[in-house]
Amino acid sequence: RKTGHTIVRVLGVTKSFRMGKVEVRALKGVDLEIFAGEYISIMGPSGSGKSTLFNMIGGLDKPSDGKVFIDEVDISQLDAYELAWLRNRKIGYIFQTFNLIPVMTALENVTLPMTFAGMNSEVAADKGIELLKLVGLGERFQHKPLELSGGQQQRVAVARSLANDPAIILADEPTGNLDLKTGEEIIDLLKTLSHDRGVTVISATHDYKMLNVSDRVVWIRDGRVDKVEHRAELDITVGGIGMESQEARPVG
Ligand code: ADP
Ligand code: MG
Repeated sequence: RKTGHTIVRVLGVTKSFRMGKVEVRALKGVDLEIFAGEYISIMGPSGSGKSTLFNMIGGLDKPSDGKVFIDEVDISQLDAYELAWLRNRKIGYIFQTFNLIPVMTALENVTLPMTFAGMNSEVAADKGIELLKLVGLGERFQHKPLELSGGQQQRVAVARSLANDPAIILADEPTGNLDLKTGEEIIDLLKTLSHDRGVTVISATHDYKMLNVSDRVVWIRDGRVDKVEHRAELDITVGGIGMESQEARPVG
């Protein structure tokens, strides 16, 4: 697939967490370049540093060393206002646990980032309903999260991630709390978004089903990039290992 300019550049990123006397080195010098419109899966065992990398790219936490550039802007140099803008407008986030606001309806969850961005509430409501239709929840916009299934809640989260037409969607284990079939539906949805809208999708995942839709897979092991595979190479790898054995393999 044709992809665009460098949208994310990760340069020598390390991240350590100090817990009392113990220092955990979650990332040990990660370099990564991601192009606009790509569908990237970040794969690796539990504790390998996927979520930490996700947080660095998304400006949710700061590297101990190294830099993250979004559209060639060093995000460590952004002031609080610019960072809030990046997190509200440029990037949409999807989490394993959906992270919806339970007292709000599906529609209110989706329109919240729009009103936060200054959009008129009626315009936001119209756009929110459009987005909920896009994810197949047009009928359920007045339901609250706990009145929806897990898959439906994640669809609301996908709609919310699109609220302000982000260039990047960051998803951390988006299928991690879903059964196989529902997870596949979410993967299909993300694939469609990436292909139809040109959104860059970066997904940290355990889910080998993600391999089928990824342009590249970044394998993380013990805080480092182990290897980066293109989809073309993957066909061979996946065929060689066999999907059944991959699903059965304990990956954390
Ligand atoms: P993954 O998402 O691949 O499962 P993480 O990025 O969550 O891995 O974690 C990588 C390592 O960093 C693990 O050893 C984890 O325990 C540690 N870690 C992650 N976040 C924190 C934190 N906030 N405080 C301390 N240690 C952390
Ligand atoms: Mg994680």
